[in-house]
Amino acid sequence: MKHTQLYIGGQWRDASDGGTFEVLNPADEQVLATVASGTVEDAKAALEAADGAFAEWRARTPRDRAEILRKAFELFTANLDEFAKLITLENGKASADAMAEAKYSAEFFRWYAEEAVRAEGQIGMAPASGARIVVHHKPAGIAVLVTPWNFPAAMGTRKIAPALAAGCPVVIKPASETPLTMLALMPILEEAGVPPGVVNVLPSRSSGAVVGAMLEDMRVRVVSFTGSTEVGRKLLHAAADNVIKPAMELGGNAPFIVFEDADLDAAADGLMLAKMRNIGEACTAANRIYVHEKVEEAFVSKYTDRMAALKMGNGLDDGIDVGPLVNAETRDKVAHFVDDAVAKGAKVRLGGQRPNVKGFFYPPTVLTAVPDDAECLKDEIFGPVAAIQTFNDEAEIIRRSNDTIYGLVAYLYTGDLKRGLRVSEALEFGMVGLNRGLVSDPAAPFGGVKQSGLGREGGKEGMLEFMEAQYISTNW
Ligand code: NAP
Repeated sequence: MKHTQLYIGGQWRDASDGGTFEVLNPADEQVLATVASGTVEDAKAALEAADGAFAEWRARTPRDRAEILRKAFELFTANLDEFAKLITLENGKASADAMAEAKYSAEFFRWYAEEAVRAEGQIGMAPASGARIVVHHKPAGIAVLVTPWNFPAAMGTRKIAPALAAGCPVVIKPASETPLTMLALMPILEEAGVPPGVVNVLPSRSSGAVVGAMLEDMRVRVVSFTGSTEVGRKLLHAAADNVIKPAMELGGNAPFIVFEDADLDAAADGLMLAKMRNIGEACTAANRIYVHEKVEEAFVSKYTDRMAALKMGNGLDDGIDVGPLVNAETRDKVAHFVDDAVAKGAKVRLGGQRPNVKGFFYPPTVLTAVPDDAECLKDEIFGPVAAIQTFNDEAEIIRRSNDTIYGLVAYLYTGDLKRGLRVSEALEFGMVGLNRGLVSDPAAPFGGVKQSGLGREGGKEGMLEFMEAQYISTNW
C-alpha cells in the first residue's frame, strides 16, 4: 500500500521540481518512506484536474455518487488491516487505536453514501407577494482539504466523503508527518469508480505556500481545515480575500467533570477513553480533569490503577496499548508540560519520566493537585498525561470549564440526569459527552465553538458544508 508520489488527475507523479521529504516511523525514528513534496506548480495542476472533473461529477445523479461511496466503504472495510498497519507505522498509535480509526474512517463513506441521496430543499410561499420560494442545494465548487497527523485516515475521509456526496471535487493536503495513509486510499477510490481529477492528493513540505496558492484561485470555493487554531487563523485570513467558505476544526481544551454522585467506575472508564484514545493526541482529549473533592481519592485511585495497567511499546507489537507520540517535538512538549506542573507543585501519582529509549515515547502519567497556573491547563497537552484538579460547587465548575478560548468538547459524569442536562446546556462547547467518554460519530455533527472552529463535520451538516443554498423566486 506504500504510494509515495503525488496523485493528480488520476495519475501518480513526482513533484515538479523533483523535491521529496522523509516520513519517520515514530517507534524507531527510522525513515519509513521518502515522499514527493508538491510545489505551487503541482497545486495549480491539481486545481486544473479538479476543475476539469467538476462538471461531470456534479452532473452525476445522487444515486450514482452514493453507489460509488458505498463501494469505497466496502473496499476500505476489506482492507482494514492494511490501513491500520499503515496508520501505526506512520503515526505510532497502537494497533487497537489504529484499527478503531480505520473502522471510523470507513464509516464516513457509508454514512455519506446514505446522505448523498438526501440533499433536500424546500418550497414555500412569500408572505406578502404569494410568489413561490424554491430552495435547493448545489455543490459549492472545488474544495481544498487540509488535514492533521493525529488521525491520518479519518480526518481525510471525514472531509472527502461529504464533499463527494455533495458533488464537489477536492484537493487534499495531508500532514507531512503522515501522508502515506491518504495516498493509500487513492487506489480504493479509483476502484470504487471515483473519476480521475475528482480527488487529488498533494503531500507537501511547503504547506503554507501550496495551500496559500490554491486559496488565491477563484475556482476554490471551500477550504476545509483540521488542525491547530494557529494555522486555522492563517487560513481564515487567506480565505477572506476570495471570500472562500471556511470549515475549521481546530484545537480543544476539554474539561472532564466528575460529580460526587457519578458512577466512579464508569467515569474512570470514560476518562480512559477521553484521555488515552490515540495516546491523548486528539483534539477531543480530556485536558482539564475536575473531580468533586468528596470523591477525589476514590476516583484517582480507580483511574490510576487503569492507567498503570497500560503497556507501552511499539504499536505493532501484541498487547501494546500505548505507542510512541508522533514526533520528538510533541514528546518534548508533553515532557515540558509535566515538568512545569510539577515545578509549580503538582503531585505525580504515576509516570512523569521520559524513558531513555529510541522512539518518541512518553508513559501514561497521572498528576494531581495541579495548580491553576500550570501551562497544561491552558494549552492542549496532546499526550498521555492526566492533569487532575478538584472542585466543590456546580456553578464554580461550569465557570472554570468555560474559562478557555476553546469550545470543542466537554465531558461530565453524574448520576443525576437533570443535573447532567442542566450543566451540559451551560457548557460553552460544540459537543458534550454526558456520561460518555467518546463523542465522535459519523452520524453526528462534530465541531466546536469559540476558537475551536467553524462549521460541522459528520451528520447531515457535514454535507451542507460543501453545498450552497440557491433560492429561486417564481410564480406558477
Ligand atoms: P497543524 O500544525 O495546524 O497542521 C495541520 C495541517 O495544516 C497539516 O497538514 C500542516 O501541514 C498544515 N499546515 C501547517 N501550516 C500551514 C500553513 N501555514 N498553511 C496551510 N497549511 C498549513 O496541526 P497538527 O499539529 O498537524 O495537528 C494537531 C492539531 O490539530 C491540534 O491542535 C488538534 O487539536 C487539531 N485537531 C483538531 C481536530 C478537530 O476536529 N477539531 C481534529 C484533529 C486535530 P504540514 O504537516 O506540512 O506542516
